[in-house]
Amino acid sequence: IIEISGLGKSFGSLEVLRGIDLQVERGEVVCVIGPSGSGKSTLLRCVNLLEEPSAGKVVVQGTELTDPDTDLDGARRHIGMVFQQFNLFAHLSVLENLTVAQRKVLGRDKKTAEKTARDNLDRVGLAEKADSMPAQLSGGQQQRVAIARALSMNPKVMLFDEPTSALDPELVGDVLGVMRQLADEGMTMLVVTHEMQFAREVADRVLFMDGGGIVEQGDPADVIGNPKEERTRTFLARVL
Ligand code: ATP
Ligand code: MG
Repeated sequence: IIEISGLGKSFGSLEVLRGIDLQVERGEVVCVIGPSGSGKSTLLRCVNLLEEPSAGKVVVQGTELTDPDTDLDGARRHIGMVFQQFNLFAHLSVLENLTVAQRKVLGRDKKTAEKTARDNLDRVGLAEKADSMPAQLSGGQQQRVAIARALSMNPKVMLFDEPTSALDPELVGDVLGVMRQLADEGMTMLVVTHEMQFAREVADRVLFMDGGGIVEQGDPADVIGNPKEERTRTFLARVL
């Protein structure tokens, strides 16, 4: 469902991604690990062209996003993204946060949008928070709202960039629980994370990135439990 080939990205003279090839199958959960600055976020942002690649091709759901003739807004509707910072609209209620893009981007009527929003709040265990304001919620609850908001657009693929890194430790579990449930439901997910336990248990495949390239990838038990590459071992020794 995601096909990336020869993906390169430079910022000026700084080469951040060097010829990445990556395919993600429908229903697959791929976790991306690697040191700070290795290009993980840039890779994710290139998947929906939030960042414009300097080289290579990105195809999602059969649509080439790197083709200049592609309707990017149309293609991006299939791709949900959740960031470290939840980016909720502070002046809108939880329910409104979930309905605004459905109505503006998908043209859904109020009733359909609210029904979809409530279904997705229920999915992340926050049905009773529909009328709260974001500031009244914990960080973990806000992140689950951000996930529900992305899901309300009925994405075919979900991208997560360190969704639990900004959370207090005791709030991390709830968010990972929601992500685990999504994975069980068959959602295709590309997840940048430092949660090795989650990667081990939930990922179908783990990628280790360093220096803008994929150094090693495979079964989580192999990549995390028994890495082949020295660079992977050094990284894991620091984070585990
Ligand atoms: P972290 O684990 O800290 O989030 P990362 O693996 O996500 O790191 P990226 O954010 O992809 O790393 O950044 C990779 C490199 O690209 C870094 O050296 C960063 O400074 C650089 N970089 C990222 N975005 C830009 C930008 N907009 N302009 C210039 N350089 C950038
Ligand atoms: Mg990052």
